[in-house]
Amino acid sequence: MKTYSHWIDGAFQAPASNAWLDTFDPYHGEAWAKIPKGNAIDASAAVAAAKYAMRQGPWASMSATERGKTLRRIGDITLENIERLADLEVKDNGKLLAEMRGAIRNVAEIWYYYAGLADKIEGSVMPMEKAGIMGFTMREPIGVVLALTAWNAPLNFLALKCAPALAAGCSVVIKPSEFSSVSSLEFAALTKKAGLPDGVLNVVTGLGHDIGAPLVEHSDVAMVTFTGSDTTGAKVYAAAAQHMKRVTMELGGKSPNIIFADADLDLAVGGAISGIFGAAGQMCTAGSRLLVQNSIKGRFTDLLLAAARSVKVGDPMDPSTHMGPMSTAPQYQKVLDYIDIALSEGAKCLLGGKPASGPGIKGGQFIEPTVFTDVSNDMRIAQEEVFGPVLSIIGFEDEAEAIEIANTTLYGLAAGVWTGDVGRLFRVSKALDVGTVWGNTYRTYSYMMPFGGMKQSGIGRESGIEAVNEYLETKSLMVSIAETRPENNFVPR
Ligand code: NAD
Repeated sequence: MKTYSHWIDGAFQAPASNAWLDTFDPYHGEAWAKIPKGNAIDASAAVAAAKYAMRQGPWASMSATERGKTLRRIGDITLENIERLADLEVKDNGKLLAEMRGAIRNVAEIWYYYAGLADKIEGSVMPMEKAGIMGFTMREPIGVVLALTAWNAPLNFLALKCAPALAAGCSVVIKPSEFSSVSSLEFAALTKKAGLPDGVLNVVTGLGHDIGAPLVEHSDVAMVTFTGSDTTGAKVYAAAAQHMKRVTMELGGKSPNIIFADADLDLAVGGAISGIFGAAGQMCTAGSRLLVQNSIKGRFTDLLLAAARSVKVGDPMDPSTHMGPMSTAPQYQKVLDYIDIALSEGAKCLLGGKPASGPGIKGGQFIEPTVFTDVSNDMRIAQEEVFGPVLSIIGFEDEAEAIEIANTTLYGLAAGVWTGDVGRLFRVSKALDVGTVWGNTYRTYSYMMPFGGMKQSGIGRESGIEAVNEYLETKSLMVSIAETRPENNFVPR
């Protein structure tokens, strides 16, 4: 079993506590590596390295073009290590190997995308209301960025946060989830080979209250970018507010996937299935509320159940598997608890509803693809994030009712709209209080499209050009070019 150390200032460093945490393979439930149990001392060391790198190290004086080239090389080295990195992700979170290979390829593309943006961050020259003054804006990196990430897609989160932050000229300390830290540690070591200067990207590991909280409170951290649950997000937001730190928050969801009677139903079934059983439902964007127009609800449910029955649960390394295990033991228990809650609320279980067993299934963290009907939108199963393969079918009569149900949730991350009527597609998309709408598709991601939540699903945007702006400050500079003293020099403002 390999024992890892923190990655601080371009080198592996043992934790100050001299203590480690086991990390488990969700497929068989056995520990396969040890990660450092970090504390406030490690937090300070990582922030000090990041601060030095940004202020005095070679990163501080590197041209934007050179910064971009470095990010490009990180993309290259990611591609050279697809197999290794995909394997680490599967071991730590139980996602499908085939899917993880694609995910790592996408991670490389994210680095390439932001590499291209590094030298296109521009300020402006403003027209001024007074003669004799020229006004400019400069876009400057905000400072040391703290990234806190969830367990379900560690390298994707690392890239979505670190690539734009580094393109902006910031340095980063990242603390991945204690359930899946190994890939981030190994990835950080690869960035050194790609020529990233020491201290620009630091990875520390451990529990949220031991090391996450002191990092958030550290006075040299300028910004916190968080991906995780809304409960932890609220704590992090409150702590960051004490020091007026900027935050971006990528939180949970209870996304409606809306099927109108005029949709291509075969396509919509595929979208509904991948929207809830992809990644075993462990996606912030899971289409966990399936809103189906009453006139087709019976027929659509039959089609859906037929497709759901063919979802093969098993070994994530096996290319024929569609759905792997729950990534963590607590998550497995949480999903089972929600199944009980749904039953006690009166929802009718049409499929699954219990732990999965059978060929290719080891350990105890598998759950059957589960479908509930007779769900009303005020039930807990329709309002709270399950983060597992549990679908709730809710009927609706017309467009207005679909929109009403879809928006009646504290969340606002994503939604799917399936219809053959283009006007309706745009009308409904406009009316939904969510950050992303998928029209006649679901689970389509692009690093070029801004992504983020409305309402309790988050603050700010990742992906696209917008993401770089999150890591920049605008400085205004006004310079006198007058030959004589400007008239308004002594006018108080
Ligand atoms: P979590 O909130 O438990 O943990 C997230 C991170 O915060 C972890 O690194 C954790 O160690 C750290 N943390 C915990 N307590 C802390 C504290 N007091 N101070 C600082 N850091 C602390 O989330 P999770 O269970 O790892 O992830 C699942 C959640 O993430 C789900 O709710 C899911 O919807 C959400 N998620 C959102 C997105 C998105 O883009 N919107 C993407 C994936 C996952």
